[in-house]
Amino acid sequence: MSSNFDLILAGAGHAHLGVLRLWAGGKRPAGRIGLISPDPHAWYSGMLPGLLAGRYQDAQCRIALEPLCRAAGIEFIEGAVTALDAASRTLHLANAQPLQAQWLSLNLGSLPKPPVTADEEMEQLAVKPFAGFIARWNQWQQHPQRLAVLGGGAAGVELALAMAGQVPSLALISATDLLPGHAPALRRRALKHLHKAGVQVIERCPVERIEHASLIARGQVVWQGPRLILATGASPLAWLDESGLACDGKGFIQITPTLQSVSHPQVFATGDCASLVDTPRNGVYAVRQGPVLASNLAQALQGKPLRHYVPQRTALALLADGQGGGMLSLAGFTLEGSLIGRWKDYLDQRFMSRHRINIP
Ligand SMILES: Cc1cc2nc3c(=O)[nH]c(=O)nc-3n(C[C@H](O)[C@H](O)[C@H](O)COP(=O)(O)OP(=O)(O)OC[C@H]3O[C@@H](n4cnc5c(N)ncnc54)[C@H](O)[C@@H]3O)c2cc1C
Repeated sequence: MSSNFDLILAGAGHAHLGVLRLWAGGKRPAGRIGLISPDPHAWYSGMLPGLLAGRYQDAQCRIALEPLCRAAGIEFIEGAVTALDAASRTLHLANAQPLQAQWLSLNLGSLPKPPVTADEEMEQLAVKPFAGFIARWNQWQQHPQRLAVLGGGAAGVELALAMAGQVPSLALISATDLLPGHAPALRRRALKHLHKAGVQVIERCPVERIEHASLIARGQVVWQGPRLILATGASPLAWLDESGLACDGKGFIQITPTLQSVSHPQVFATGDCASLVDTPRNGVYAVRQGPVLASNLAQALQGKPLRHYVPQRTALALLADGQGGGMLSLAGFTLEGSLIGRWKDYLDQRFMSRHRINIP
C-alpha cells in the first residue's frame, strides 16, 4: 500500500462518523482518503452505561468501521497513531509504516486524567479507550470486589448508577460537588438516585495520591479498596504535545471556527482533542461539528472557501439512572423519570442506526 493520501481522518470519533455517514450518502470529495482507528469499531459512549447495567449487548453499542468506510469509498486502516509531525502531515503508527497526507483531520477523543500516582495494590481502569475498559470490567466481574469510581461529572455518575449492585460496595468520589457545570437540581436528583442505589458519595474530595490501596485527599485516607475506575475529566493524547501543533494550556489542539489548527491550517481537529471557545468537550458538540467538517474537508480538497462552525449556546444533558429511567437537564431546567429514559434510548438508538451499515 502506498503511504500517500490526499486526506487522512485519524480517529473514529463522533465528528468523523458524521463525515463518513454523509460521504456514504454520496457526497464524497474526489481523492484518496483513509480513516485510521485502533479499534475496528467505534463505541458509542452514550450507551456505555446501559451496556454496563446489562440493558444492552456489546454489538448494540458499537459501529463497525470497515463497512461504513467501504460505503463511503474510504480506506480503513486499523492502527493507533503514536506520533504526528504536523509540518509534513506525517502520522507514525504502532506496527506499520508512517502515512503522509496533503490534509489531515484529527478526531481522536481524550483520555481520563490519570491520578497523581500509581499504586501496585490498587488496580486502576480508565473508562477510555472503551474496548479495553469493557474487556477488563468483564474480567473484574468474574470476582466482583469493592470498587470506587473517581470523577463526579456526568460520566462518573452514570457509571456508578450502572454498576451499583454489581459489586460488594461502591463509592463515587468527586473533586468538587457532583455534576459541576450542570443545574444544582440535577445534582440533587442524581444524589437521590445514588443514595437509593447504595452508592457512597464523597464530594469536594480532590484525590492527590494513592498509597497502599488507599486514596488520599488533603492528607487523609478517604477510601480503601483494590479497584478504581477513572472517569475523571478529559486530558489530551500525550503525543500531541510533540506534534508541532499549537495547543492550549492543557494540551488540546487550538482550532479556528473553520475547525483548522491555528498553527497548521492543513490539519483539522474536532471533538474532545480540539480546543475552541464556547465549545465544551462532550459528544453533543462533536456530533454537531461533523457536517461542518464534512463540508470543509471537501471544500479544502478543492481549494474552495470554508464555513464557520458556530457552537450551540446550550446542550441537552441526558443521564441514565441505571434502572432504565433518565434525568434531563437543559438551560437550568431538570426532569426525570422512565419516559426520559425511553427518550434517551430512542435518541441513542437513532444515532446508532444512522451510522450502522450492518451489524458485525
Ligand atoms: C461513560 C461515558 C458516558 C458519556 N455519555 C455522554 C453523553 O451521553 N453525551 C455526551 O454528549 N457525551 C457523553 N460522554 C462524553 C463523550 O464520550 C465524549 O465527549 C465524546 O466521545 C468525544 O467525542 P470525540 O468525537 O471527540 O471522540 P470519541 O468519540 O471519544 O472518539 C475518539 C476516537 O479516536 C480513536 N483514537 C484514540 N486514540 C487514537 C490513536 N492514537 N490513533 C488513532 N485513533 C485513536 C478512538 O479509537 C475513537 O475512535 C460520555 C463519556 C463517558 C466516559
